[in-house]
Amino acid sequence: MVPFLDLKAPYLELKDELDAAYRRVMESGWFITGREVEAFEAEFAAFCGTKHCIGVGNGLDALHLILRAMEIGPGDEVIVASNTYIATWLAVSYAGATPVPVEPDEATHNMRPELIEAAITPATRAIMPVHLYGQPADMDPILDIARRHGLKVIEDSAQAHGATYRGKRAGNLGDAAGFSFYPGKNLGALGDGGAVTTNDGALADKIRLLRSYGSKVRYCHEVQGFNSRLDELQAAFLRVKLARLDAWNERRKAIAKLYLEGIRLDRLRLPRVIDGAESAWHLFAVCHHERDRLQGALKEAGIETLIHYPVPPHRQDAYRAVQLPQGSLPVAERLAQQVLSLPMGPHLSAADAERVIAVVNEALR
Ligand SMILES: *Cc1c(COP(=O)(O)O)cnc(C)c1O
Repeated sequence: MVPFLDLKAPYLELKDELDAAYRRVMESGWFITGREVEAFEAEFAAFCGTKHCIGVGNGLDALHLILRAMEIGPGDEVIVASNTYIATWLAVSYAGATPVPVEPDEATHNMRPELIEAAITPATRAIMPVHLYGQPADMDPILDIARRHGLKVIEDSAQAHGATYRGKRAGNLGDAAGFSFYPGKNLGALGDGGAVTTNDGALADKIRLLRSYGSKVRYCHEVQGFNSRLDELQAAFLRVKLARLDAWNERRKAIAKLYLEGIRLDRLRLPRVIDGAESAWHLFAVCHHERDRLQGALKEAGIETLIHYPVPPHRQDAYRAVQLPQGSLPVAERLAQQVLSLPMGPHLSAADAERVIAVVNEALR
């Protein structure tokens, strides 16, 4: 049996340090936004190369609070990827703005910059590229378009902790970025968690205000804020795991290299990484027109795979009101039919990766 992702192995590898972090917080008697959160924020900002990091409750809130802090809301449009996890769209909808989808490049799975300008209207306020599966979107042309049209660029970095683009880390490529620390992410907490990174001090201050009831001074509320805080326990765990992130991303990269060099199945499309970028290899997604048969063959051989994502946001019941019919975003719809994520993670052994390769190569005979 090859599991898709082993979430117990990271604990076993870091048991002593995680247990010590747990005891440290328990004995401190302080559980919400304290010393551990402050230390983690400083450490994660340094990791990303940004001036500021603000810990929040989860990745969706991180994106939502950025939009709120930028005062993007009803009547505004935000350009999003047509093929993403629904959270990207929901963050825009939460703010009261309208998500406007742009189709991806089929080889990289990321938003095609050359399609963005046609989606810009007088109501457009921001572009929100996703670094899907851990690979940075092609940011230079996106930033160039944004600059020319006076738009903000918000990175959905929920899958891209540690990825780089032209020497800079994801999270430091636009005006602000949202990260998720959901347990399965490259930097995963042992529960929910998220963060915003930015170099804009005024924006960082606003997000600090918004995450905690609009209050800087206790019981004094400047704005109608939210409750979206990172807790001390998760921050303490994240500090332990952040120290391993580069090493664990290297292990993912080694698995990706084995897959890229070893998989030879007719008409199967491997992920393509753009020049000047390093993927964080959150997922290793391949494409095949007989995806369901391929997944079935892998399952029979004891190899667990997942589909990211089987239904694009515009075809979800949640977005029925947007009224984008079947066929309106053909690339996202085709990818949803063809994409398949192979086992990937820092604790996947080379032997298991070789087994995945052998089974894929023989799967459709
Ligand atoms: C995980 C994820 C999110 C949301 O993160 P949560 O912590 O689950 O709220 C947002 N965008 C993308 C692309 C994600 O993969």
